[in-house]
Amino acid sequence: MIRQISEILTLSGAAKKKGRHVQEADLEFLKNQALWIKNGKIQWLGPDRRIPKAATNSKEISAQGKTVLPGFVECHTHSVFAGSRAHEFEKICQGMSYSEISSQGGGILSTLHPTRQASFAELVTKTQKHVDLFSKQGVTTLEIKSGYGLNLKDEIKLLKVAGAMSGPRIVRTFLGAHAKPPEFENLEDYLEELENKYLAYIKKNKLADRVDIFFEKGFFNGAPAVKYLRAARKLGLDLVIHADQLSLSGGSEVAISLGALSADHLIQVREPEINKLANSEVTCVLLPAADLYLRCPYPPARKLIDAGARVALATDFNPGSSPTQDLALIGLLARLEMKMSLPEVISAYTVGAAHALNLATKVGSLEVGKYADFLITEKSWTDLFYSVGQMGPFEVYQQGQKLNDV
Ligand SMILES: [Zn+2]
Repeated sequence: MIRQISEILTLSGAAKKKGRHVQEADLEFLKNQALWIKNGKIQWLGPDRRIPKAATNSKEISAQGKTVLPGFVECHTHSVFAGSRAHEFEKICQGMSYSEISSQGGGILSTLHPTRQASFAELVTKTQKHVDLFSKQGVTTLEIKSGYGLNLKDEIKLLKVAGAMSGPRIVRTFLGAHAKPPEFENLEDYLEELENKYLAYIKKNKLADRVDIFFEKGFFNGAPAVKYLRAARKLGLDLVIHADQLSLSGGSEVAISLGALSADHLIQVREPEINKLANSEVTCVLLPAADLYLRCPYPPARKLIDAGARVALATDFNPGSSPTQDLALIGLLARLEMKMSLPEVISAYTVGAAHALNLATKVGSLEVGKYADFLITEKSWTDLFYSVGQMGPFEVYQQGQKLNDV
């Protein structure tokens, strides 16, 4: 039982609206509340002076003078990798584009080799540090993609590393279709191999629930990519798409037509795609740190939100195009560069991201029956997503269990 909560943001209004057209009132800001947790779920939430009789024997924690809010949902990361891409960043600073770096054998492939060479144990140690840094910032649900193995043995290794993490709830995504591995002459042959040899294995061994693809000109696109995604969906795997990042390649339209959970990046979308996304169940996952590092324009967040699209924010943490795990930086860019309001940012990092992970009935807001994933902080909610590098400190609870005390 969390007693005497000075202020709580339940986000129940934003959850009811499924993360669309979120206003400040949808944060459902309440004072002097109590939160009763039973079996990892929220059993009751209401005024502190009216706690139910059945709860009187519960262990009590005081949150007097403090704010309680839902744990953050980080819905797009490439957290399992080895090596560094710092040398490529210098090239970007000198004016080289990401496409040029990729065409010279850099980019994703320069992470491939060290990641293949790294042992399972080495990757577990390295990845756990990344995971811990997310949970310190209040992340209670974390998505992790594979995609730096690009052969069956190493993709399995990466998914198992993600599955071996302790701390937040981990959602695993298979991103075999991240880039063409050097062993293959053309993309179509590799996609055929992924479809025929990887998908059923991953499904059968429960290594991931979701399949992602880098849908982009020069990478995977058009009919072969759609065929691959259809095969994944047929096996019961959820779909997510890296869409319309570097060029308008049709990724968001494919996401809509195949019923993907999310379309991610969306820098290039214009009015027709914006309206279609707004009228779909696809969550628009915006990743502004990648745009900052690549010196790309930011996605049209304001237009998407005003059209009624559901938006989520995430770090896109990876060693190349977004080597940061800083949630405050993401929120700052969303507010400063993408003109999102603070309530929109908070909803995007909770309710919106929960939808992107198909977990909206379980996480993202503090409501009876949902998981007791919440944060306690001495700051006010208006201090969130403001000072870069200073997310928290939070007391982080996942399913009623304290994850850390930072
Ligand atoms: Zn990504």
